[in-house]
Amino acid sequence: MMRLHAPAARLATGWASNVRFEIAADGTFSAVTPDVPVGDAITLPGPVICGMPNLHSHAFQRAMAGLAELRGPTDDDFWSWRETMYRFLAQISPEDVEAIAAQAYVEMIRAGYTRVCEFHYLHNDRNGAPYADLATMAMAHLRAARKAGIAITLVPVLYTSGGCGGRPLTPGQVRFAISPLQLTRLVAALDQAVKTEPDWAVAVGVHSVRAARSEEIATVAQEFRGRAFHIHVSEQRREVEECIAWCGRTPVAQLAETAGLNRHWNLVHGTHIGTEEIRMIVNAGACITLCPSTEGNLGDGLFPAGQYQTLGGMFGIGTDSQITIDPREELRWFEYGRRLSRERRVLSADADIPNAGAWLWQHAAHGGEAACAAPVGRIAPGTRADFLVLNGDAPALYGREGDALLDSFVFAAAPGGTIREVWCGGRKVVSDGHHPAEDEVASAYRTALSRLLRR
Ligand SMILES: [Zn+2]
Repeated sequence: MMRLHAPAARLATGWASNVRFEIAADGTFSAVTPDVPVGDAITLPGPVICGMPNLHSHAFQRAMAGLAELRGPTDDDFWSWRETMYRFLAQISPEDVEAIAAQAYVEMIRAGYTRVCEFHYLHNDRNGAPYADLATMAMAHLRAARKAGIAITLVPVLYTSGGCGGRPLTPGQVRFAISPLQLTRLVAALDQAVKTEPDWAVAVGVHSVRAARSEEIATVAQEFRGRAFHIHVSEQRREVEECIAWCGRTPVAQLAETAGLNRHWNLVHGTHIGTEEIRMIVNAGACITLCPSTEGNLGDGLFPAGQYQTLGGMFGIGTDSQITIDPREELRWFEYGRRLSRERRVLSADADIPNAGAWLWQHAAHGGEAACAAPVGRIAPGTRADFLVLNGDAPALYGREGDALLDSFVFAAAPGGTIREVWCGGRKVVSDGHHPAEDEVASAYRTALSRLLRR
């Protein structure tokens, strides 16, 4: 049992002073008690907020972030970015993936992400054949997470098709191919691998309605019913148009009809959804993961946030393409997209939490609990002890109290300097803003990159 004490902490019910945390040996909070003296507890050097789960990551894409900003001969959109990604991927080895993922994960935990949901579809060897051990690439991500000290929910996903209705895979997609039967075997192997690690969990999913036949999606959803289920959906207008042309329904409607949405579903993006689809998602209790910096970078479009909030939809955030790795930037982009399109201010807020920064942080942290397949996103007994200790002396935060502190943290803080410590599963991973393995991990990352960029 570890005992910690914070001068102030943002709990689910609001800010509390003189908070004592008791953390059990398995890394969960066993008690959270406000208004008590320090006693025999270790004092934390600043106000405490809950850690942010990253609900959607493709770690390998960290290595190509920024490499697709050059104007090409045709219109540059998601699809031209995807070609750059496929070319990059054709070369990458499990050792490269481990080094790149470790770098991405260290950057995540330093930025305040305490768990990553790794949406994993890079299953096969360079020639498209499965590795002798199907879990080869998945295990590279788990080892990277261990090195970074970040909690991980691994999300192996089905990928059988190159387009709606079971179109064949293109040469750029052969490394992703995995059958429903192989996916079952992979999940079973990963369930074994995570058994002894309280910070590791296994979810499952399908890449998108483009990447598998409807009957395959339904089979996987049925087989793993009750497990967190992730899928990309309606990120691009072209995907929606292709889906309607093929089956007469939008991607969300097709999934609801053939696989059945429920509260375990995590729908990634949902950029181009309408009122009926929002109702389906909210009624099912599913979560939408927004990746605003990636969606902005790829020119995807703006999520209908106003309607979604009005209907009470749950959301979380993800780093997706890793174009930026900072939860605050995702939240700012989300809110600023709303402000710019509405020509109004402070839209992500309500009577309970009128401060936009606090509203965004609290909702995004807790919205992803089901997607993570782990009790996260709140500071409360029974949840994972994942939290940040802020630097109340940082110029951007100095003199702020309560939710005004979170507002300044989200909207007004320069990168670096505002997060003093990051704790994950009751372990201090970042101290004074630094990660103990950051130099070693960066060095391995540079070695992998020089190999990849030389080829
Ligand atoms: Zn994605």
